[in-house]
Amino acid sequence: MRAGRNINGNAGVNIRPTTRVAIYLRDGYRCGWCWAAQSECDPFQVTLDHLEPHDNGGGNSPTNLVTACRSCNCRRQSVDWETFAGNSRVISRVLDLSTTPLPRELAGLVIFGVISKLDAIREVRARDGASPQTGSPH
Ligand SMILES: [Zn+2]
Repeated sequence: MRAGRNINGNAGVNIRPTTRVAIYLRDGYRCGWCWAAQSECDPFQVTLDHLEPHDNGGGNSPTNLVTACRSCNCRRQSVDWETFAGNSRVISRVLDLSTTPLPRELAGLVIFGVISKLDAIREVRARDGASPQTGSPH
């Protein structure tokens, strides 16, 4: 199977605001690489990093995007993402994040100020049934 020119019609760098914020929420507003919390940042100051760069045929599909702090995104540049991740824990975290469905409707509510980012993050976590390592009920 060759990738060919199937870039799911999303060529270019434009990512809809709803999709952008949905990815931030999916990733818990944390940098996929260093796991630094980005929830205090303006939504449009946080960056999205392409796992597979545009130049290598990577598109703007959410499965190819991960939330990244500006520092990590700048440091990575064109380094292969698995190399940049540095260890299997980060690799599997980024794979988990990138394959989780996007909470688009929640992103819309955040953009329009109906709910807070933190409430939306909690909602996403509750849906996933994810139990973050912080705050284990014990
Ligand atoms: Zn980072």
